[in-house]
Amino acid sequence: MFQTLCFSFFQSRLVHVAITVGISSILLFKQTVLRTHLDDGHYFVPILYITSACVSLVLYFIVACMDPGFVKRGDPDVEEKNVCLEPHQRCGLCGLQRPVRARHCRECKHCVRKFDHHCPWVTNCVGERNHRWFWCFITLEVIMLCWSISISVSGYQSAPESSNWATQNVILLLIDLLMGILLLVVFALFCIHTYMILNNHTTWETMSRHRISYLKGMSESENPFNLGICRNVYTFFCHIKPFDWTVVYSKARSKMK
Ligand SMILES: [Zn+2]
Ligand SMILES: [Zn+2]
Repeated sequence: MFQTLCFSFFQSRLVHVAITVGISSILLFKQTVLRTHLDDGHYFVPILYITSACVSLVLYFIVACMDPGFVKRGDPDVEEKNVCLEPHQRCGLCGLQRPVRARHCRECKHCVRKFDHHCPWVTNCVGERNHRWFWCFITLEVIMLCWSISISVSGYQSAPESSNWATQNVILLLIDLLMGILLLVVFALFCIHTYMILNNHTTWETMSRHRISYLKGMSESENPFNLGICRNVYTFFCHIKPFDWTVVYSKARSKMK
């Protein structure tokens, strides 16, 4: 079990690095517009492209390696505040008092504040602390994938017959197929997470609303954590310390009654 976990942990990270480095290298060495810039001595665009690819890798590892907001014994907001809200807020798996919006992740073996989802691609939870970095990562990935596809298309070589053309461009065609599929997935994620940031939703609360005790009895349109678009965005990107959702929740509940 431990070996399987370690294997998948390193495997997905290795695959991500291999895809990023592999595609960037091929686009640099094939006869693409990037290569033309290098051959002509114009280094700005190639350097910008490589720097952006490196930044996307850094963002990936920030999301993968940072504490997503694990609930820890001794956290000041863990022991007392939520008792009045729910009779069943103590986590049955790690035994800690669970703040509102936290959920236990079986893969990470921790309760995670403002739990969004456990991402198998980064092999880490996405929660209160790293969700903003996750959004930055997928946003840059959308830009990089669009940019890379346009660079790849510029490298297609013309051939007199269509079968020759496909054979001649097989590597770039395969890269474009892979990047096209990735772009569809990442762009969908970008749209979903942007919408959720604006409205202060999480994937977990959206997908499993009927199972979440603190949202029971509320209609689909009611969201007790919605602070308005500007404050939602500000809280998401700028609030570094754990946010006290209990206060927001209590105020919203008293207004709804
Ligand atoms: Zn737990
Ligand atoms: Zn997790």
